[in-house]
Amino acid sequence: MTSLMQGKRGLIMGLANDKSLAWGISKKLAEHGAQLAFTYQGEALEKRVRPLAEQLGSDILIPCDVSDMDNLDAAFETLKGHWGQLDFVVHAIGFSDKSELRGKYVDTSLDNFLMTMNISAYSLVAVAKRAAAMMPPVAEDGTGGGSILTLTYYGAEKVIPHYNVMGVAKAALETSVQYLANDLGPDNIRVNAISAGPIKTLAASGIGDFRYILKWNELNSPLRRNVTIDDVGGSGLYFLSDLSAGVTGEVHHVDAGYHVVGMKQEDAPDI
Ligand code: NAD
Repeated sequence: MTSLMQGKRGLIMGLANDKSLAWGISKKLAEHGAQLAFTYQGEALEKRVRPLAEQLGSDILIPCDVSDMDNLDAAFETLKGHWGQLDFVVHAIGFSDKSELRGKYVDTSLDNFLMTMNISAYSLVAVAKRAAAMMPPVAEDGTGGGSILTLTYYGAEKVIPHYNVMGVAKAALETSVQYLANDLGPDNIRVNAISAGPIKTLAASGIGDFRYILKWNELNSPLRRNVTIDDVGGSGLYFLSDLSAGVTGEVHHVDAGYHVVGMKQEDAPDI
């Protein structure tokens, strides 16, 4: 263990189980000395999140549905009661009606468009506002501020069949990262995103033909493999620690290089 995150306190939002991207990031942060608090969505998930939090030495678990602003306010009030100040936040949250994560984007309903945008994009803005209010002010020696990290996907940049409205929400999320970085920069609060390659998680299982996406990425990425939650965790540690002190507004690909490839690899078999 290094002392990279020693003395730093952070909130992890979006842990569902030990397959979650948030778990890969949390493990890495705890390994390097961070103190963590967790939010969970609903009682069913609390049963899964509690033992994981305990494994990392945390007993701060707060219920929070990010689509409900009163709920979000209450969650940050509870956190304030524990800690007073906050150094970083991981926002690893996305949701859409899975019946619209297959078929055509043109068939997206207004209700699901608004819900997907609310939970998957606006929630970062709502979280950033509340988290920033808890981050230490910049001192004369330049210390203070904090780091906010969200998770996005290549479907924001290019069309990925079935990703549909979630791709549009991720595009809004990525642009939000830039606007939030600019708003919060003067307070030394950095805002970045990791664009992760496909990983089998609960949320990903809702995406139509996800197994094909996984296989395609494995065969066609420059590294010829899929990424793991530990790969995402390593990059998360960089963004949430002082190693990335000069970096904000960034969307960083952790995808085995897939985003630089323009066509099928010569050595990739048909699938
Ligand atoms: P996951 O199912 O483990 O995590 C998704 C989390 O979102 C869950 O903890 C769920 O409780 C939470 N959530 C959904 N609606 C919520 C709400 N209203 N309020 C509070 N929490 C809510 O899946 P994951 O793949 O680890 O997803 C984490 C993030 O990573 C998401 O933003 C996802 O889009 C992104 N991502 C995933 C992949 C992938 O292939 N798995 C790739 C790139 C980006």
